[in-house]
Amino acid sequence: MNDLLRLPIFTDEQRGFARELDVNARQHSWPDPEQDDAAALKSALATLGKAGVLKHALSEPWSMRANVLAREVLAYHSGIADLAWAMQALGGVPLLIAGSPEQKQLLAKGISGEACLGFAITEPDAGSDLSRLSLRAEKVGDGYVLNGEKHLVSNVGVAHFFVLFARTSDDKRGVSAFLLDTSLPGLSFEQQRPISPHPLGRIVCKDVKLPASALIGAEGDGMGIALGTLGRMRTTVAAAANGFARRALDEALAHAKGRAMFGSTLAQQPLAQGILAEMRARLDASRLLTYRAAWEYDSGASRIPLQAGVAKWQSTENAQWIIDKALQLAGGLGAVQGSIFERLYREIRPLRIYEGASEVQQLLIAGEMLKESP
Ligand SMILES: Cc1cc2nc3c(=O)[nH]c(=O)nc-3n(C[C@H](O)[C@H](O)[C@H](O)COP(=O)(O)OP(=O)(O)OC[C@H]3O[C@@H](n4cnc5c(N)ncnc54)[C@H](O)[C@@H]3O)c2cc1C
Repeated sequence: MNDLLRLPIFTDEQRGFARELDVNARQHSWPDPEQDDAAALKSALATLGKAGVLKHALSEPWSMRANVLAREVLAYHSGIADLAWAMQALGGVPLLIAGSPEQKQLLAKGISGEACLGFAITEPDAGSDLSRLSLRAEKVGDGYVLNGEKHLVSNVGVAHFFVLFARTSDDKRGVSAFLLDTSLPGLSFEQQRPISPHPLGRIVCKDVKLPASALIGAEGDGMGIALGTLGRMRTTVAAAANGFARRALDEALAHAKGRAMFGSTLAQQPLAQGILAEMRARLDASRLLTYRAAWEYDSGASRIPLQAGVAKWQSTENAQWIIDKALQLAGGLGAVQGSIFERLYREIRPLRIYEGASEVQQLLIAGEMLKESP
């Protein structure tokens, strides 16, 4: 990763952080989620907590460059380690944005890996269109009562706390955010199995009683908190995609150089060289777009929807393309279960859908451009 790390986008401290994380992540034997996804997630979280690196995901000032570098490095070495990082950040950023002093005490446990966090917004009838959220939080006495369902939520079965978004009224500003302790009575969890194994599932709420202190921010602040969190995380999803893609390119290069073919090697075949060149060009473009968005955020831009949208859309789409080409270069064995190419091929797919599908990013980018143009 050193090539682009040298650019003046980064500080020496950030370069040092990325290099050290890369060395440690390379040496670590990350657990295989194919065997037991929940155990793998817990183990990866414990490792990151022990290393003390999660402070970058769960404290202010929030460095987008540190988070981007961390996710690129972790995704390169282990999808489950990247997920552990991402979910702590997704669960922690709403508290950084709007949590009460009491709620913010949880952040220290998130940093140490003692508390596993999550972010629950998607519902069967509300994914890209969040105005359709229907899980209800009814005000009863001093507290709230939750009824309804979330689905496709990462860390179900593992998280100790979710930041959960619920409808407190039917008007436009009717969504509120709550800190949900997963041990509360009335909650049940059902597993869903994603294409690449990680803990994922449904949260069913049946008369779940929440104290008033569970409300994050004020009633009606929920959508702002959710969009603020997703807006911050968007650039880091791009970085994770770049990590998967960079790994695919490194593996493809090594394979092509070692694969004897037609009197030389696969790497010497002009058509293969054309593919390798395009993989590199697309990867560099994606990484630069992601680093630009991170730099703009860290330089004080209050909103970076256009830069983050471009980075997420292009990086995830390019990564899918790069990984597909890497698998193609690997031949039949690349498509066999257990190969690195096959793993990356499954791992990259959801990134084009979650936290704003590619089409949602396109609309966001166009909307920003139209606002900006005279
Ligand atoms: C592995 C995985 C992990 C996830 N983790 C979480 C989590 O931790 N927490 C959580 O709350 N959710 C999570 N999700 C859910 C994810 O955020 C949603 O799947 C995503 O927001 C899309 O919503 P949907 O599935 O309802 O698809 P829909 O909203 O029904 O969209 C379907 C498709 O329509 C297209 N589309 C969308 N909008 C437009 C448009 N305006 N114009 C044209 N086409 C459009 C896109 O291609 C999209 O993929 C996860 C999903 C996956 C797969």
